[in-house]
Amino acid sequence: MDADIIVIGASPAGLMAARNAALKGANVILIERKEAIGNPTHPANTFFKGMFDRTGEAVDQSYVIKNLKGAHIIAPSGGEVVVESPAYFLNRKKFDEYYAQQVSKAGVDIRTGVEALNVIRGEGVFSISTNEGMLKSKLVIISDGINSRIAGLLGMKPIKYPRDTAWSLEAEIEAPGIGEPDMFEYYVGNHAPGWKSTYSPCGGDRATLGVYVRGHGMDVSSFFDAWVERFKKIKGLDDISFISKSVGGDPIAAIPGEITGEGVMITGGSAAQSGIGYGMHAGQMCGDVAADAITKGDVSPAFLSQYRKRWNKEYRNEYYLGRIALETLRKMTDKEIDSMIQVFEGEDLSFIQGDPVTKAIRTGMFMLRKKPSSLLSYRAALRRK
Ligand SMILES: Cc1cc2nc3c(=O)[nH]c(=O)nc-3n(C[C@H](O)[C@H](O)[C@H](O)COP(=O)(O)OP(=O)(O)OC[C@H]3O[C@@H](n4cnc5c(N)ncnc54)[C@H](O)[C@@H]3O)c2cc1C
Repeated sequence: MDADIIVIGASPAGLMAARNAALKGANVILIERKEAIGNPTHPANTFFKGMFDRTGEAVDQSYVIKNLKGAHIIAPSGGEVVVESPAYFLNRKKFDEYYAQQVSKAGVDIRTGVEALNVIRGEGVFSISTNEGMLKSKLVIISDGINSRIAGLLGMKPIKYPRDTAWSLEAEIEAPGIGEPDMFEYYVGNHAPGWKSTYSPCGGDRATLGVYVRGHGMDVSSFFDAWVERFKKIKGLDDISFISKSVGGDPIAAIPGEITGEGVMITGGSAAQSGIGYGMHAGQMCGDVAADAITKGDVSPAFLSQYRKRWNKEYRNEYYLGRIALETLRKMTDKEIDSMIQVFEGEDLSFIQGDPVTKAIRTGMFMLRKKPSSLLSYRAALRRK
């Protein structure tokens, strides 16, 4: 054996899985095909404090480019809800390097420039062929991102509704003062079906613009082009310069499927555990259970299912309610979205607290009290589309 555990992919979830497993005494190798962790950088570069806090990690200002105060959620007609909630725009390279350092300090053997090409399950051992030769371990953690090739090689389906992945195009842009505001702007409506278009200021003259679209294939460039034109009109800009563009998938509504098997665990975007913070928390749970499995000498699906149980307890309801909400949004007309957002305009939304189910009930009760007819917009959930 080269290690007890081999983690494939230094995603936020993979880094946490490797660190936590090593901190609990397992002998861990983390392989990453990029030549350096965090380079080239992943386009995901923002998170809300409330979500990140669930990891138990403290935000370190060394990797923060800009502190934000929250988000405006903007309806097609321009009506908006203001959500005050601290958030961060990250220097993603520094963020990845910060966590890579922790992983290394925990004793993980990090090998960059090493790509897993094939995985073969044997009797109590995994053989992973890489561009740098064969590696063997008792347990494998797959964290190779959306559309996991390695999970596919093992015949596993870690995402329940892969078709419902949001496909995204995000660009870093430059225009005078465009990075100055301290709130995100998320625009919902049929110009970005199934989720949103975004404007994220990151200081000075820099910001990002993005579209996240579900149900219209992987190429969302036409939605992006239309969003850029609309954004220029909204902000009264004649021109914007594009610094870079990135494309990718975000499994926000795709729901984890088969995330454990004999000697194998899947975490992060490859397991539809979308988002930097939530992915990291899932990775921590995965690493903890993996280390326990090594200590007990039991990598059976029954033992590893503790990872699924922990994740279910913490996130299952939230992900399913999120999926229902995004599916409803995808089917709503712009008029219905306007009417729904109108109910919350100018309201103090701090009463929407608690676990996801309580939040959903409180939101429903509020709508019922303020404007019962607004609940009719949820009829869209039953529509076939
Ligand atoms: C454009 C865009 C913007 C987004 N913005 C945000 C955001 O602002 N905030 C947020 O919370 N979420 C955001 N998301 C969602 C986010 O991408 C994910 O939830 C998050 O990055 C999780 O990463 P991941 O697990 O998918 O893996 P990734 O970050 O994709 O990591 C997978 C890693 O595995 C490596 N790898 C792959 N195959 C192999 C192999 N065979 N061998 C070795 N290594 C391999 C890859 O090089 C990569 O480093 C965004 C998504 C997109 C597409």
